Amino acid sequence: MKSSTNATIRNSASGPPQYCVFCKIVDGRLPSYVVYQDESHIAFLDINPFSKGHTLVCPKRHGETMWDMDEAEIGGLFRVAAKVSRAVVTGVHADGFRFIQNNGEAANQVVAHVHVHVIPVMFEDKGRFMGRKSLSNEEMMETAQIIRAALANLV
Ligand code: AMP
Ligand code: ZN
Repeated sequence: MKSSTNATIRNSASGPPQYCVFCKIVDGRLPSYVVYQDESHIAFLDINPFSKGHTLVCPKRHGETMWDMDEAEIGGLFRVAAKVSRAVVTGVHADGFRFIQNNGEAANQVVAHVHVHVIPVMFEDKGRFMGRKSLSNEEMMETAQIIRAALANLV
């Protein structure tokens, strides 16, 4: 996957890793509601969620798009995202979930650090436009705790 094409992806959010919002979360310069981490990945609640439990799963190593990752890294990221999705769906009692993974400005990528959105959906959301929600700090803390507990209970 890495450098196997001459095509480029335009991204207005491009910039050096020291200014990257998600790198700041990875190294603790910015607070976040972390639900999972291992040596190479971190998952935290989206600050502006489409639904309660909306989580972002990222590689810790900075890369802007999927094209900056090799196949093993892509596999690892989606393995973690799949595991996190089980905890998210169980934790918030959702009926399904979406993975969204944006690459480039044209795809609405706003943060230029690879991430997979895990968005839990309820039956009542079916076919409906899902707007961004505003959850209180307490609701976010409670949601993160519920997801961490669900992850701990995964077999
Ligand atoms: P994308 O459009 O795929 O680049 O999505 C970036 C996501 O990052 C958006 O859904 C934002 O709400 C989310 N986001 C931006 N800053 C933060 C932050 N500091 N903590 C958590 N989520 C964030
Ligand atoms: Zn970064």
